[in-house]
Amino acid sequence: MKEIKLLGIPWDADSSYRRGPAKGPAAIRAELERVRVYSNMTTEQGVDLEQPGVWSDAGDLRVTTGEETRVEITTRVAQLMREGHPVLSLGGDHSVTWPILCAVNANVGKVDVLHFDAHPDLYEEFEGSRFSHACPFARSLEDGLIGRLVQVGIRTIPETLRRQVERYGVEVVTMSAWDGPPTVKFERPVYISLDIDALDPAYAPGVSHREPGGLSVRDILATMQRLQGRVVAADLVELNPDTDIDGVTAVVAVKLLRELAGLLARR
Ligand code: MN
Ligand code: MN
Repeated sequence: MKEIKLLGIPWDADSSYRRGPAKGPAAIRAELERVRVYSNMTTEQGVDLEQPGVWSDAGDLRVTTGEETRVEITTRVAQLMREGHPVLSLGGDHSVTWPILCAVNANVGKVDVLHFDAHPDLYEEFEGSRFSHACPFARSLEDGLIGRLVQVGIRTIPETLRRQVERYGVEVVTMSAWDGPPTVKFERPVYISLDIDALDPAYAPGVSHREPGGLSVRDILATMQRLQGRVVAADLVELNPDTDIDGVTAVVAVKLLRELAGLLARR
């Protein structure tokens, strides 16, 4: 197996409210280094991420304008995947997921997506932009990049998005119907997109849009651990260090990142 590549995407210009997620990759790397030095890097399911050849850091992508950055994201992720690397992208705001999925589709065809989020991110356009962080899954579904879309943690669905959910057959596990971590089984290769605001702000205050009534860290870990399917790539987005409190959200992000890497290593 080729090693997993971490790829930082310091992009937050498609955020609809406040900036900050561009600083996410640096905050995650700093916390990751602390864990590496002072704790240990074995996942809950026994994958030792310190073993040589498990993962390595491909650094940060160069970001410029929106248009160029989207092309850059697709190009770089496609290149890494063509070389056989599973890619674990660090946002950045959630707008990065559509160009990533373009690359994933080009390499492995349609993927099924497990999407953790407080928000469905299914707007056809938001505040005049089709590339807003509120839109990546509308773009991906329109383009036929993905098969099933299973959303976990959702707790705001405006009426316009309800129509999108029906139109595309999105499977939504809402917080109002929460009955413990679901067991999700996929047939196609799997992509995981993890928006940190899926978590309750009590666990993860460092996000741009805090939405109470969310998931616990354990809810997300258990859903990931119960997942049946072959995970080929993933992203972790929307960590906003500017709104974090004493770095607690970075700590949570790195915990989730390690377990995501464990899933990618398991394929
Ligand atoms: Mn999102
Ligand atoms: Mn969100």
